[in-house]
Amino acid sequence: MGGAGLGLAAACAVATCAIATVMVAHRVRSRRRWGRAVALVREFEEACATSVGRLRQVVDAMAVEMHAGLASEGGSKLRMLLTFIDNLPDGSEEGTYYALDLGGTNFRVLQIQFSGKGSMILTHRVQRQQISQELMTGTREELFNFIASTLKQFVQREDDGIDQIPDVRKDLGFTFSFPVRQLSVSSGLLIKWTKGFSIKDAVGKDVAQCLTEAMLKTGLNMRVAALVNDTVGTLALGHYYDVDTVAAVIIGTGTNACYLERTDAIIKYQGLLTNSGDMVVNMEWGNFWSSHLPRTPYDISLDDESPNRNEQGFEKMISGMYLGEIVRRVLQRMAEESDIFPDAVQNLSVPFVIRTPLMAAMHEDDSPDLREVGKILEDHLKISGVSLKARRLLVRVCDIVTRRAARLAAAGIVGILKKIGRDGSAGVASGRTKGKPRRTVVAVEGGLYVGYSMFREYLNEAVAEILGEEVAPYVCLRVCEDGSGTGAAVLAAAYSSNR
Ligand code: ADP
Ligand code: MG
Repeated sequence: MGGAGLGLAAACAVATCAIATVMVAHRVRSRRRWGRAVALVREFEEACATSVGRLRQVVDAMAVEMHAGLASEGGSKLRMLLTFIDNLPDGSEEGTYYALDLGGTNFRVLQIQFSGKGSMILTHRVQRQQISQELMTGTREELFNFIASTLKQFVQREDDGIDQIPDVRKDLGFTFSFPVRQLSVSSGLLIKWTKGFSIKDAVGKDVAQCLTEAMLKTGLNMRVAALVNDTVGTLALGHYYDVDTVAAVIIGTGTNACYLERTDAIIKYQGLLTNSGDMVVNMEWGNFWSSHLPRTPYDISLDDESPNRNEQGFEKMISGMYLGEIVRRVLQRMAEESDIFPDAVQNLSVPFVIRTPLMAAMHEDDSPDLREVGKILEDHLKISGVSLKARRLLVRVCDIVTRRAARLAAAGIVGILKKIGRDGSAGVASGRTKGKPRRTVVAVEGGLYVGYSMFREYLNEAVAEILGEEVAPYVCLRVCEDGSGTGAAVLAAAYSSNR
């Protein structure tokens, strides 16, 4: 080999060496970055831990806050609002009743015919209507005139004479899912608007009266028999089907709960009398807070950047509005500090790009190569080239967020049961007959609970885990869809003046 050849060989060896060094360095860096991503997920998982011990602390905190909220106005972050509902339907309601549902995804008008026995519904007619942006931000007269005229057209179309005597006043259940200070079963003052509504001249007004006036103007002979929110409607419908139902929980875009309380436990309204000695209390539990809740830096930044900072703390860890957003915040940090989502920092920095149903679809991808996760990342988030092991890590993040949410909601439910002596802890003194715990049903409604099976499974599992095997078989969670529509109609039947 000549000198030139030797030189070339040496140069080649140096180059090979350099390439190898670069490759090794790259691999080391990449492994370190991967390690960083794994470490972030591990830290997050630890911060979200919900051991049964911690859940029991949340149970106790919920029961304590319920007491405080019942003791005095403003005594707790739980508002514990009176509803004046003292009798729940039992399946014997009879006749045709109407309902309005305002405050969910769509405005709806319903007509429901109850058979009179055996919790049977004979006919169920619904009309959905969008409320325009102008109506949401206009005047109260415009909104209620629109509602009354929609109702009138619906009644004229659906009222076929069966079961209806002309000129007899019809009863209506009005589900109005905004904060209301209730004055009676059928009246209440609007405290404030939420969900994009902003009609200034309606705040502080009795919304049932606004509707009644509008109905009179259109010539509708109807009466608001019950003014409720969606949670109370769900409890009513649950009780219509099963009289052991004592509480209702909504887990959809937001979350809330209500339950049947003894009036003598409602200390802030001493002397409150009802026929049954009970009253449904609307907890507004989305605003629950306790230092025992496992809070992470991602929850804190989500809250800081929200329009209602320091409010709805429980809701921000549990409900459909937020779960996908918590996942996004974790993924964004992983993208910033590792290279597992190539070029995705920008796409993951858009608030709320990961909606909860999308998160659920990724979480529930059961294909061995997580094909669906890859497809969602590409189609919805414009992130491509994510490795299988990174996709697995992403699914783990979804799992952590959902598991925590479901288990905290479960602790909230057991907190209610504890408050009313149905969790087995009060012993023979309350809630037990013949040495056995009493059968207890909780009605559950909402898109998150109904549509996200992993969430539902985690929640049910946690309720059983907290209660223990002796009591758990006596507690049943029952899906009760459309409490805000059918539930309001059955309440109208229960509180009908014609009954
Ligand atoms: P609302 O709360 O407006 O009355 P729903 O009870 O139907 O409406 O809840 C809708 C919410 O539930 C959605 O905003 C979404 O967050 C959540 N959701 C609905 N379907 C699913 C699903 N399949 N997986 C996960 N979350 C879902
Ligand atoms: Mg709803």
